[in-house]
Amino acid sequence: MLIIGPPGSGKGTQAERISERLGVVAISTGDIFRANVKGETPLGIEAKKYMDNGDFVPDSVTNKMVRDRLLQDDVQDGFLLDGYPRTTVQVDELDDILAQAESRLDVVLQLTADDDELVKRLLGRALDTGRSDDNTAVIRHRLDLYHGQTEAVVARYAERGILTQVDGIGEIDEVTDRVMKAIEVAKTA
Ligand code: AMP
Repeated sequence: MLIIGPPGSGKGTQAERISERLGVVAISTGDIFRANVKGETPLGIEAKKYMDNGDFVPDSVTNKMVRDRLLQDDVQDGFLLDGYPRTTVQVDELDDILAQAESRLDVVLQLTADDDELVKRLLGRALDTGRSDDNTAVIRHRLDLYHGQTEAVVARYAERGILTQVDGIGEIDEVTDRVMKAIEVAKTA
């Protein structure tokens, strides 16, 4: 399955919980990039240039990383992708990877929240975590990219009839309850 949501929607937190409860591997492209930035690997050095400005890492770089990850043994019984695909080019790539692996998506879950709430949350997170991409100008840019590019990704999955939307506003546990119920309904649909 996929979890999609604007920056600050809590998708990382919910992805961890879904992964624990369903026993599937969670793969966060943002986390993989951050680990590479920390380790100063060539991938990290390349990605950092984009991440600090709130830009997307180029599709070619991101797609290769995801393809390598999804062909590993631990994901063969299922996976939860957090933060990918974010562009329609990435949707095409994922379709190709899944076709090659003779796999398919069961559920695409979108967490929704309005921009003002997201900015408030992200500025709070900046104080807690010191993430270098959590400041007002960069946050606005990341939200613009979400609306400008990732909403087209969401529309693609809606057309395919596998999109489930969940309100991401509320207490973390409350949102998790909504998410788990939505997954149950989507799985039996
Ligand atoms: P996230 O933790 O999901 O908010 O991702 C943090 C940052 O990593 C994003 O703002 C992008 O710079 C980069 N990133 C993560 N996933 C992708 C992706 N699918 N495509 C391009 N860039 C990505």
